Amino acid sequence: MNDPFKIIEPTVISFSGGRTSGYMLWRILQSNNGLPDEAIVCFANTGKEMEETLKFVHDCEANWGVPITWLEFQQAEAPKDRFKVVNYKTASRNGEPFAQSIDQNGKPYLPNPVARICTINLKIKVIHHYLKSIGWKHNENMDWVGIRADEQRRAAKIARHRTPLVAAGITKEDVGNFWGGQDFDLGLPNNKGVTMHGNCDLCFLKPTNQIFTLIKEKPERAIWWMNMESHAQSSNKKFGDGARFRKDRPSYKQLYEYAKSQQDMFSDLNEEAIACFCGD
Ligand code: SF4
Repeated sequence: MNDPFKIIEPTVISFSGGRTSGYMLWRILQSNNGLPDEAIVCFANTGKEMEETLKFVHDCEANWGVPITWLEFQQAEAPKDRFKVVNYKTASRNGEPFAQSIDQNGKPYLPNPVARICTINLKIKVIHHYLKSIGWKHNENMDWVGIRADEQRRAAKIARHRTPLVAAGITKEDVGNFWGGQDFDLGLPNNKGVTMHGNCDLCFLKPTNQIFTLIKEKPERAIWWMNMESHAQSSNKKFGDGARFRKDRPSYKQLYEYAKSQQDMFSDLNEEAIACFCGD
């Protein structure tokens, strides 16, 4: 049987900063005796990742001796220049790339479940622009993503050769067992394979009760999201698309106020997270 982790052509390993894609990277390093010349590992930082995520990406590069290219969106006249290379020390930590992308067309426009432009602008395009800048003739067929065999809904949309964990039948239990035996791990709680704090801290695709719990845990987490909603609403007088991250739930300001007053009306909600490219 072919080894799904063996790299035989130019490949982009998209590292989200989560345990699953970290495990995928480790398997690739094992199967190829390190990182082959025709492979590149990219981590696209939105500026709203948790500090633990940034540290985990850095720990992987330091402990495994694998070069990881840290990228961020930056506003620029020409779309091809809308990226920059950063590193663990210089990576944004206050949502700067995300805020710039919201304003990139002059008038603020917030991503939402229908228009998930943050994933596209802050991750997918940033990686594509970078690869073009170093001379790659890149297409998305070259991108490997950390999707597991137990994530069939996400996996169904992506060619099998781009999801080696699916081909190898890797589940969240396998990933959890692997990290349980390592000298370092992502410093965020692992709740039955779900990293509630992963990706952007209060990503609008997370279920309401998760967002609410994260705000209660640390109320200041809500401030950036509240500010972005109020910034977008100041320019979208009709309160149309792009003025809220979610129109089907309370605003971040309301969630912040509920959290401060200790009202919890979301614990019984049985809402599923919406999957996106950002991944685990
Ligand atoms: S984690 Fe959520 S908010 Fe952040 S880029 Fe991905 S979809 Fe957008």
